[in-house]
Amino acid sequence: MTLKEIDQSYVLSSYARNYTNFVRGKGAKLYCSDDDEYIDFSAGIGVSSVGHDNPILVNAISNQVSRLIHISNLQVIEPQAQLAQAIVELSGYDMRCFFGNSGAEANEAAVKIAKKHGATAFDNKRYKIVTLENSFHGRTISTAKATAQESIHPPHFAPYPDGFVYASSVEKIYDYIDEQTVAVMIELIQGEGGVEPLDKVQVQALAKKLKNDGILLIVDEVQTGVYRTGKFLASQLYEIEPDIITLAKGLGGGVPIGVAMTSLKDIFSPGDHGSTFGGNYLSSAAGLAVLSVLQKAYDSGSIAKNIEIFDKKLTELASAYPALFSSHVGIGLMLGLRATSSDIQQSIIEHARENRLLVLKAGRDTVRFLPPLTITMDEITEGFERFEKAISSI
Ligand SMILES: *Cc1c(COP(=O)(O)O)cnc(C)c1O
Repeated sequence: MTLKEIDQSYVLSSYARNYTNFVRGKGAKLYCSDDDEYIDFSAGIGVSSVGHDNPILVNAISNQVSRLIHISNLQVIEPQAQLAQAIVELSGYDMRCFFGNSGAEANEAAVKIAKKHGATAFDNKRYKIVTLENSFHGRTISTAKATAQESIHPPHFAPYPDGFVYASSVEKIYDYIDEQTVAVMIELIQGEGGVEPLDKVQVQALAKKLKNDGILLIVDEVQTGVYRTGKFLASQLYEIEPDIITLAKGLGGGVPIGVAMTSLKDIFSPGDHGSTFGGNYLSSAAGLAVLSVLQKAYDSGSIAKNIEIFDKKLTELASAYPALFSSHVGIGLMLGLRATSSDIQQSIIEHARENRLLVLKAGRDTVRFLPPLTITMDEITEGFERFEKAISSI
């Protein structure tokens, strides 16, 4: 059987999967074989934040796995405590962390924190959470229902938990708040929904109003967190103080990890929530290594430099190809080119792949760029040469 046949025989078909078989990577390059090299402007959907085969991450993981991979959360886990400290210190917020294994689990924890707050601080009267249209919060039953896109919570998975209410814009969120509302959950830049940054002034006004009314603000930073926008957190860029923040994608550099951090520092008691694998030795060591690499890249200005170059290139491309692109969107290294149609979006992604460049789709019409944050000048130059070659044939 070919690899494709094995995959299709034994793995459920929940993905529209491509069958290019990558066997190794280095930095922002991926290889099927030594002479078949791709440039990776997708970083595994924003996960491989320090690139492939990063020596500091590989060493940290190797050293850790030869000592301990896992014990359980019934024992203190030294790298987990250190990672929580590093995350909280980098954030500048007075918070504590819960560790899971994915973005959806981080958001599940956030929902539980909010609901427990609604039960304990408001005598069980508050439980509703308002989310935004075109959001994406995950694929578990609750986070799928939290996601205000019908395609993510179709009727065939019903019944869903109650209490998620959808607003069509930041300014309309208040129309959906009532005496049962415990929290509002937003992404500051909607990722899967189409690389759509929310308006900073509107978000600040919302944050202020929510604080006044004692309603929690949950910011889903699963995609925007860990330097993706140029700051450690997008919440810092937006200059707001959320009550709960979730992280996942870029934090482990490819090792599964998710975090819900909150200023409700005493919300959980033993037994309230848990995870067998969450924040074990392997994933916490990976998180610590990723943070050390990215802190250095941030301090040296290399992330800012990469942002500047990507921004310049995408601005040029958007104006040079008006038949293909209507605009250039995004913040930091979470960027997109809005294609003039879904067909063109699809065609660009396919042509890019034929030219050995990986880019992502987002929403109905956006070509999304989520390169490793440590991508080099040479890799950027080579990637955009391939991109121009790809689009010039459309
Ligand atoms: C990817 C993503 C999730 C889901 O993360 P998983 O690790 O796939 O569960 C949730 N929220 C946002 C904003 C995301 O981008």
